[in-house]
Amino acid sequence: MSISQISLSRAGSGDTERYEYECPCGEGKIIEEHDNIPGFRDHSVFFRCDKCNEKYKFDLSKGVRGWELVEK
Ligand SMILES: [Zn+2]
Repeated sequence: MSISQISLSRAGSGDTERYEYECPCGEGKIIEEHDNIPGFRDHSVFFRCDKCNEKYKFDLSKGVRGWELVEK
């Protein structure tokens, strides 16, 4: 799996990190987002791919930055 795009944007007083990875089937993306806004921290990782969303899930036992894909 390769990182196809990394962007780091600064909006207002907080930072938003957004990473895009190729999904396993290659037709979609995996999106990892970290919103580091004071008073509002949101970390999420999700598929933007229906196929992989059906087939895989995220193992977040090592934390949202250390996610691993596991087959359902
Ligand atoms: Zn896919």
